[in-house]
Amino acid sequence: MSRFWSDHIHELVPYVPGEQPKQQLLKLNTNEHAYGPSPRVFAAIAAKNNDDLRLYPPYEASALLSAIAKKHNVATDQVFLGNGSDEVLAHVFNTLFLREGRPLLLPDITYSFYKTYCAFFKVPAEVIPLAEDFTIRVEDYTREREVAPAAIIFANPNAPTGIALALDDIAHIAQANPDSAVVVDEAYVDFGADSAVALIAQHPNIVVIHTLSKSYALAGLRVGYAVASAEIVAGLQRVKDSFNSYPLDTLAQAGAVAAIEDQAYFDEKRFAIMQSRDKLTKDLQQLGFEVLPSKTNFVFARHADHEAQQLHQGLRDRHILVRHFQQPRIEQFLRITVGTPEQCAKLIAALREILNA
Ligand code: PMP
Repeated sequence: MSRFWSDHIHELVPYVPGEQPKQQLLKLNTNEHAYGPSPRVFAAIAAKNNDDLRLYPPYEASALLSAIAKKHNVATDQVFLGNGSDEVLAHVFNTLFLREGRPLLLPDITYSFYKTYCAFFKVPAEVIPLAEDFTIRVEDYTREREVAPAAIIFANPNAPTGIALALDDIAHIAQANPDSAVVVDEAYVDFGADSAVALIAQHPNIVVIHTLSKSYALAGLRVGYAVASAEIVAGLQRVKDSFNSYPLDTLAQAGAVAAIEDQAYFDEKRFAIMQSRDKLTKDLQQLGFEVLPSKTNFVFARHADHEAQQLHQGLRDRHILVRHFQQPRIEQFLRITVGTPEQCAKLIAALREILNA
C-alpha cells in the first residue's frame, strides 16, 4: 500500500504465474513446449552483429509482419505485434473493452489473466459459467441483451480445460454480436484446433490472439500477436505507440521469423506433442482419471477417489511439478503439460506409485 498509488491499484492482486523452480524438477506446470525451438532460431540470433544491438530495433518489423501475414494468409496491416500475447491482450483491453457501461462477457473458467485485466482496466465483467461438461454454451453469448457487450473474450481451445469450440459456434457468436469485439485467444490452437482467423473476412469484429510461447517453443523470447481487421489493428497501434513504439526487440524479431519459416520443424514437433498427449490421456484414464478432451499441449484431469491437492503434493515430493487451481468447480483437477514420451512415462509411474500407496 502506498499513498502515492492510483486509487484502483490498492484493490489489485498481482498475477502469480506457475512456479519456476530453481532446483531440477520435471516441470509440467506452465505449458511450455516439450522440445524447444527450431535450430534455425539459434542460428538467426547468433548471426546478429554489433550494429544489430547498438541500434534501435527495426521499427517497421517488416520481416516478422510479412512472415505472420503469410502464415495466416492476411495483409500485414491486419497483424499487431506484442511482447508476448499477455502484452497484446493488455492493449486489446485498453483499445476495445473500455466502452461506457458496456460489459465484457467471459467464461467463469478460462485464462485467469482476463479477470486480472478487468480489475486493472476497470472493465465491468459479466462472468458466464461453463456448462456442466466444461464446454462454452454458445446460447449464453448469442441471446439478446438490453445493453450490447463491449466485447466477448475466451480462449480457444479454452484453458485450463483444453476443450475447443467449433468455428461455426464462434461465427455464430460473432454474428449475434456485430457491435462487440469477439476476442479469441488461440494460445494453444496449433495442437489440433481450427483457427478463427479464417472467419475474420466475414466477421470483422473477430480478433484472434496468438503466441509463439507454446507451439513455437519461444516462451522466453516473448512474442505474441493479434490478427484482426485493419480497422481494429489501427486502434491497437494508437495505444501501443503511446507506450513503446518499437514492436519487439531485435533478437525476438529475428528469432520469431526463423521459427515461423521453419514449417517442417514446427509440424514435426507439434504432431509429436499431440501424439504424446493422446497416449498420456489413455494412460491417465487407465489409472482411473477422467480426462477432458484436449486440443492443447496439456491435459486437465481429475481422479474420483483422490484429492487433487494430495496428488499435486505427491508429485512434488517426487520432483514433478503440475498445476493445481484453488478455484471453485475445478479444485479436483490437475493441469498437466504434455512432456516428451519419457517425461510422460515418468509422470505416470509417479502417479501409479501415489495411487497405490
Ligand atoms: N493466453 C493463454 C490462454 C495462455 O495460457 C497464456 C500463457 N499462460 C497466454 C495467453 C500468454 O502467453 P504469452 O504471454 O507467453 O504469449
